[in-house]
Amino acid sequence: MSNKFLLRLINKNNDIGGKMKKIITSLSSALLILAASLSFTSVAKSAEFFTIGTGGPTGVYFQTGNAICKMLHKSAIAKEHGRKKGIDKAYRCTAPSTGGSNYNIGQIAAGEFQFGVAQSDWQYHAVNGSSKWEGKQFKGLRAVFSVHNEPFQIWARKKAKIKDFAGLKGKVVNIGNPGSGQRGTMEELMKAKGVDNSFFKSTTELTSSEQVKALCDGKIDAFGYSVGFPNGAMEQAATCAAKASPINLTGSEVQGLIDGADYYAKAVIPKGTYTGQKKDATTFGVKATVVTSNAVEADLVYLVVKAVFENFDDFRKQHPAFSSLKKEDMIADGLSAPLHEGAKRYYKEVGLM
Ligand code: GLU
Repeated sequence: MSNKFLLRLINKNNDIGGKMKKIITSLSSALLILAASLSFTSVAKSAEFFTIGTGGPTGVYFQTGNAICKMLHKSAIAKEHGRKKGIDKAYRCTAPSTGGSNYNIGQIAAGEFQFGVAQSDWQYHAVNGSSKWEGKQFKGLRAVFSVHNEPFQIWARKKAKIKDFAGLKGKVVNIGNPGSGQRGTMEELMKAKGVDNSFFKSTTELTSSEQVKALCDGKIDAFGYSVGFPNGAMEQAATCAAKASPINLTGSEVQGLIDGADYYAKAVIPKGTYTGQKKDATTFGVKATVVTSNAVEADLVYLVVKAVFENFDDFRKQHPAFSSLKKEDMIADGLSAPLHEGAKRYYKEVGLM
């Protein structure tokens, strides 16, 4: 029975005895209090949800996003923050698998994701409106911190006898799904080498989780992938029928890429990282970085950073690619977008800046 209805009922029954009137009036105020408290509970949320865009389910970004969520969910500070705001569980995040770097940045720009993992080269291009981001500059992109190194790798199956980039001529090559970081970086490498798709016999656009099976099944000869190491999917490529390994990507064009941009650096995958890998693989690489938007509230970014940095030993254990992470490097390396004010607040508070 609604309070309005009850009041109407009381008014209609003005003629009833005084005692009865008193009972109804006190019943009415009890109901009013109950109704008020019910409407208060429906306004207070049990949690505030946000999303971190990652990469393919077998890559390291997926583990990165989920490790961040895990640190936040276990963190007492997030819960405390929630209590202050009248939220039971405070922030909760999900880190779904996605198409990768450029897809994530696009979703952040559209307000669909609040955070994402993205390669340092694509962070740079998005905030500066260059390369793939020409005409679509995302000035609101903000850096949070960087994570592991991602050497750009071309994995080739043993029987294809591919030793270097020139050996890819006339082969079937997976250049990566549109939206992935590796697709963009592969295109930059091809541009530097002065070749287009016609250099290969044919190209495929498989996702990172599809490409290993295709290589193992002999459907493709090689794939390009920017990813942290060691990781399980590459070990699978090394141990399946393909007996694949990463080739060297060196020479003047690669050196030109490294010399020409802060977001690229020389990278080595030491021999023995993967089964049967007898030699170091020398290539160029980027950093995996966590990015957000200036439209995301500072308190949330602050809490995300605090949860990771105050549970740092645990965070580093979440993936072997994180084992050598250092806080000082994470707030400096590979970040070309301005730091989000919420992240800066935390770094200043703990004396990292
Ligand atoms: N670097 C890849 C990308 O930007 C993702 C690698 C991963 O999933 O770990 O799409």
